[in-house]
Amino acid sequence: MRKKIVAGNWKMNCNLAETKLLLEGLTQHLPNQITAEVIVSPAFTNLHYAFENLKETPIHVASQNIHENDSGAFTGEISASMLKAVGVSHAIIGHSERREIYNESDALLQAKVNQSLANEITPLFCVGEKLPAREAGQHFEVVKQQIEKATFHLSAQEFKKIVVAYEPVWAIGTGKTASPEQAQEMHKFIRDLIAQNYTETVADEISILYGGSVKPANAKEIFSMPDVDGGLIGGASLKADDFIEIIKSI
Ligand code: PEP
Repeated sequence: MRKKIVAGNWKMNCNLAETKLLLEGLTQHLPNQITAEVIVSPAFTNLHYAFENLKETPIHVASQNIHENDSGAFTGEISASMLKAVGVSHAIIGHSERREIYNESDALLQAKVNQSLANEITPLFCVGEKLPAREAGQHFEVVKQQIEKATFHLSAQEFKKIVVAYEPVWAIGTGKTASPEQAQEMHKFIRDLIAQNYTETVADEISILYGGSVKPANAKEIFSMPDVDGGLIGGASLKADDFIEIIKSI
């Protein structure tokens, strides 16, 4: 049975005091019985604090990025071993904001995926098309290329360790959500692609999350789709009550 996962992408939000408050809100109100694996991704400066304060809870800590090299002259960067040492278990890789604003290429993302796996950090690997590609009917091809180029070099054993997040760029932070049917259609496409490149068994084991304006009001419907195994949540993960409602929707 593949895992259900709800991960919060906090982006460049929450200083230390705000991180403390948000984590308190989450830990105080998270129900005892949760079916999803829950992940939060504070900023680099707050990862250590988050891990120390969450280690007695079921909540995991993700970084929002990871560097592709082990160490060295990369001023301003953070290595995988540094992340691992402060309790990071997951890393968001290939978020559309990093692809777009920081020009992260498929080749770079492949190196980041490798580095993450080599350090036993689970990649939350994001893919998704922009609006013009969807309007031109090229969304399947875009997502196919993104997955193939950054992850299909992995062995089946390695690939099974990654989590895929489908995030149509036109739905991120815009309030426009893909319909449950649009999400299901793409998730099924991704699962079939994995089955073709690896096996049905591998494809069945991979959690594929949906991301893009998920809120308490639409989470249940999206999560009810058979190939949607949870969500990567941006804006709504910054409000403890909303994030908990989304977690409860699984
Ligand atoms: C995201 O940035 O990963 C995301 C899904 O954002 P939002 O939920 O705010 O659309």
